[in-house]
Amino acid sequence: MRCLACKKAVEIKILYPFCRECFLKHYEERVQRLIRRFKLLVKGDRLLMAVSGGKDSLSCANLLSRLREIFNFQMEVVHIDVGISECTNFRTESVVRKFCEERDLKFHFVRLQDLLGVNGDLKTLFKKVRRPLCSTCGMLKRYALNKFAREKKFNKIATGHCADDITRFFFKNWFSQNFDWIAKFKPLTPSSHPKVVARIRPLFECLEAENLAYAKFNNIVIAGCSRCSYFLRKDKWNDLLQLVDERRPDFKLNIVRGLEKIEIKIKKSPRVLKECSSCGEPTDQEICAVCRIKARLQGLNS
Ligand SMILES: [Zn+2]
Ligand SMILES: [Zn+2]
Repeated sequence: MRCLACKKAVEIKILYPFCRECFLKHYEERVQRLIRRFKLLVKGDRLLMAVSGGKDSLSCANLLSRLREIFNFQMEVVHIDVGISECTNFRTESVVRKFCEERDLKFHFVRLQDLLGVNGDLKTLFKKVRRPLCSTCGMLKRYALNKFAREKKFNKIATGHCADDITRFFFKNWFSQNFDWIAKFKPLTPSSHPKVVARIRPLFECLEAENLAYAKFNNIVIAGCSRCSYFLRKDKWNDLLQLVDERRPDFKLNIVRGLEKIEIKIKKSPRVLKECSSCGEPTDQEICAVCRIKARLQGLNS
């Protein structure tokens, strides 16, 4: 088989057969087109890239760092440490720190334990206050990321969510009739409240397999949390989508491209954000979920 673009020997075939150089060019051009089409980045933006240490977020950070001059924006990187000992890969901080140094990116390290004002392992603590691990961790990460970004005067947050993640979220939410979320499945989610920072997803049209290949071809060292990715990947939606993938490798790409075009009108009134009466962060309740967890955790000590 020959490379689709230059007829050299094929080194990778995910959607199309490509040599290394043509694969990288095709991947980077697709992301750049998406950035232009949805105005994900414009001159003067201050972007905070959230990096877990996995292949998706590091590939995204690498590509964005190369686009700083083209799109004229500033960029820094944050890693949120979840404070769950069996989840924390002790290499992650040093791997991401080194990655940032090599690309002249300022690196920030934020601990969920500091946010909650506790010291112990969060898995044990969540168990004591009967909170489900993965959803609580996800909610705290979103809160921490938004608060940190706003306080440091960033106007956009980028995450490494890719077509595989979006497709999985889409089907899960569709089946549970949660359309609030589906309306947000776009490459850009604008700010919905003065205290909410806009989100961008530059890898919206990229597949996990492509991100992995991009990381490998660029010799990017990966140090993600195997536990989180284990739980995320090994659900029934993943198995189902894998089956579809075998017949239609472009299935996920077509789902996300469809999502880019549709506008979902929600019948019930959408969530109205106000400020938490305790911490001031945006929430649709009187006291936000993070403050309620904090109160319960502090109740443990007394
Ligand atoms: Zn080629
Ligand atoms: Zn609060």
